[in-house]
Amino acid sequence: MDSAIPAPRAETYDAIMVGGGFYGCAIAGYLARRGWRVALLEREAELMTRASFVNQARLHNGYHYPRSFRTASRSRVNLDPFRRVFPEAVFDKFRALYAIARHGSKISPAHFERFGQVVGMPMRPASKEDAALFDSRLIERVYEVEEPAFDASILRQHHIAELDQLGVEVLTQHQVESIQPLADEDTASRLKVSTGSGVQLIADWVFNCTYADLNHVYGEHGGHEKVIDRFGLVHQIAEVALFEPPPELASRGVTVMDGPFFSAMPFPALGLHSLTHVRYTHHAKWNEDGELPFGLTERCPTALLHRYLETGGGKLARSRFAWMVRDAARYLPALSGVPLADTLIDVKTLAVGTQVDDARPILMHRDDRMGRLVSVMGGKVDNIFDIFEFIEQTLGLGVAPHTIGAAAHRTSAPAPLEALGE
Ligand SMILES: Cc1cc2nc3c(=O)[nH]c(=O)nc-3n(C[C@H](O)[C@H](O)[C@H](O)COP(=O)(O)OP(=O)(O)OC[C@H]3O[C@@H](n4cnc5c(N)ncnc54)[C@H](O)[C@@H]3O)c2cc1C
Repeated sequence: MDSAIPAPRAETYDAIMVGGGFYGCAIAGYLARRGWRVALLEREAELMTRASFVNQARLHNGYHYPRSFRTASRSRVNLDPFRRVFPEAVFDKFRALYAIARHGSKISPAHFERFGQVVGMPMRPASKEDAALFDSRLIERVYEVEEPAFDASILRQHHIAELDQLGVEVLTQHQVESIQPLADEDTASRLKVSTGSGVQLIADWVFNCTYADLNHVYGEHGGHEKVIDRFGLVHQIAEVALFEPPPELASRGVTVMDGPFFSAMPFPALGLHSLTHVRYTHHAKWNEDGELPFGLTERCPTALLHRYLETGGGKLARSRFAWMVRDAARYLPALSGVPLADTLIDVKTLAVGTQVDDARPILMHRDDRMGRLVSVMGGKVDNIFDIFEFIEQTLGLGVAPHTIGAAAHRTSAPAPLEALGE
């Protein structure tokens, strides 16, 4: 093994996390706090560089989901615990504005207001000054709402410090290539995890937290793909374009609802704003087992993304920022002519069936044949608070305390669990 790649200190663990995004880190911390010996294997050189960094940084408070009452209301319930557990990562030094387009929107102002009342979301008409930023020929109503952003680099620092303090063994640059039962026919068997770097570890439990690559931790060569439950996923190559906000937008975040519109949100981790546009952000979309885009052949979404960028001259060459700005500036003239500062591209993954109502459930699943393999895919970061009860039940650890970190607690009855693929 390359001497620069961290080597494990032990061969056996109570639990192994595959994937060091927000979910893998948070679950690792949760189990370590119970006294479990935990190792976390991450393919990249650093934790939280993928979807957990490449996103809109919206700390959802429900407004975004007028077509899914459940997602909206869970977002509201989870916001306070998020604030309590990660206070330093919550960024709310800006005014959040939601605007309803006059044409082509799936929602009217009356509907949005009613929905806000039912879910209990605070909203008020935007000030004259804020409303004047929009072209009133295209925007019917503007609301000021309470929806912060999160700083992904502070979340990363939080996890690094916490995992270190809790003694979690974090092994970056280790790509898991197979997960196998130690005793082939036994669904309760402990599991053997092998990496491309030649490491083999054994664990009582393995958590697959690999998001876009959820169906690919077994590798193209592992031979286990056919015997492990696979998930119906939809992938999108998603571009989060970054720009230096003009003065009018510096302390504002704008979302135009609900259709082929855009968001211009603070991106606190880099001190910039992000621009995403429903029509242009997604360069491609495909189903896990469906036809692959651009004639590419890589089934693993991350491999496909890399090939897409290689063959297209890199991420900046691929940027659709100019199209996003051209359209968005019609609604919000302050965006006119803003230059691209940088762009982030990654795979965004959704569970099949959620496109219709735009819901963002958490996918939690225990494998049929390897009963100690648990897969988790969070549709958004605050969903983390919906998972610990499932983990408690799965592991038979007793009553769920509903906490990560000392201060968090649930503020309503636990939601029914989402278990896809069962
Ligand atoms: C464009 C976009 C916009 C979004 N906007 C928002 C938003 O505004 N608000 C919100 O709450 N959520 C948003 N989300 C969703 C949110 O980002 C995800 O729900 C969350 O980051 C998922 O965390 P994760 O840990 O499961 O995934 P990730 O952060 O992707 O972590 C998975 C990790 O697994 C590693 N990995 C994969 N395969 C292997 C392997 N074989 N071996 C070892 N390691 C492996 C990867 O390198 C990666 O680090 C957005 C997502 C995208 C892509």
